[in-house]
Amino acid sequence: MTLPAHKDPIDIPAGARIVRPDPARPFVAMSNRKRWSKCALSAVLPQLKTASGPPAEEGTAAHVVGEFELARAFNPEHSAILAMPNPPAGLDGFDYSPRGCADWQTQVRDHARTYGAKAAGLFADCTTPTTVMIEHKIENVTIHGVRVFTVADAILWNEGANRLVVGDYKYGRSPVGMGTVDDPNEQVAGTIALMCSGQIPTRPGLTVGGFVYQPRTLFGEPWQVLAPLTLDWAQDQRTKLNRELAAVSAAAADPDGTAPTPGEHCKYCPSARWCPAAATFGDAAISVEQGRRAVVDLTDTEVMALWSARSAFKQFEDDLKERVKMLAENASAAVTVKRRTGNSVWSNPASVVETLMLHDRADLLQPPGIEKVRAAGIPEDQLKPLITRAPDVLTYVSVAGKNLDGASAAFAKYLPKGAK
Ligand code: SF4
Repeated sequence: MTLPAHKDPIDIPAGARIVRPDPARPFVAMSNRKRWSKCALSAVLPQLKTASGPPAEEGTAAHVVGEFELARAFNPEHSAILAMPNPPAGLDGFDYSPRGCADWQTQVRDHARTYGAKAAGLFADCTTPTTVMIEHKIENVTIHGVRVFTVADAILWNEGANRLVVGDYKYGRSPVGMGTVDDPNEQVAGTIALMCSGQIPTRPGLTVGGFVYQPRTLFGEPWQVLAPLTLDWAQDQRTKLNRELAAVSAAAADPDGTAPTPGEHCKYCPSARWCPAAATFGDAAISVEQGRRAVVDLTDTEVMALWSARSAFKQFEDDLKERVKMLAENASAAVTVKRRTGNSVWSNPASVVETLMLHDRADLLQPPGIEKVRAAGIPEDQLKPLITRAPDVLTYVSVAGKNLDGASAAFAKYLPKGAK
């Protein structure tokens, strides 16, 4: 079900390539720390790198504008003029009319200005100049034999105020967030730890902070900041990073002896094809489907063991879907395709609104997202009475953490004697 590390998949998506980490020279990118910090094996297994699509191009365009506005927010004399980028082709459901493109540019610029203004606000009380490092690379750090690489969207350093802030501008919708003091955003906290390890002078009284600005996040606040934090906090983060990199180093030395650690972080894992965890749980799911086991019969411990590893199922299913799609595209005899006529959808939402207004049917209109309305410049005091909070989102977590053995055992006792 999974591939040995030396073997390529039979077919890979167009534009994709396989990268095999060199175990003698382990390497990690801070942008993937969320994954390798929890599953060291993912840093050393082969990875399938897929071509970036229109959403990634949109993010790149938004970052160009964000960088410009960030520089301008710290230096109002900044006189350069930025030619606004156009929306990339191929965005799902995008209105490519001249009005739709102009609205996109306005929104990208407004988001960028908010990004710059909020970042500059963190230094508004300073009387000394702030050094603004944009797209700042750190690539010369090796810890426990593992090379660490990062590119930070914003590193803001005010030597006079003895203050460091690291920021990340996210343009995707999948919520990222800054986390908490005890469980901060991995990428930002890791970059702070590296900056405080020889990249800036660390004098007593140094304060550090981090922020994530994600204007289009599906839920949570777009602007999230953790500050001020202390040098001790940054040093704790460095200790944590060292521990994670020691685990990566051990995995590189003995990948076969390293167990995968599945969890939420498996989503989009580029190594899933080579990962034994997805196969183990796919096998377990089949035993339920075959009637050898039923979920209602599981003990409390078994339920939580499986719950804690549910992302592996999702990853497995996603991979399966991708393979089936490729088989169909390659006209494989193993699959037939049934086609259902697509539902009717509006071809031009803006014209639909005009038509409804013309017929005096404003009652049929649905308001857009709150951030979109904010970005359109509607005064906050008028919006405030219109906004409430959705119910809190509850996340159920197993107190025993990941328990793969327990999850497998939940099914193994139902297998025929002698079967594995
Ligand atoms: S799929 Fe999950 S468990 Fe497997 S290597 Fe990736 S992160 Fe680790």
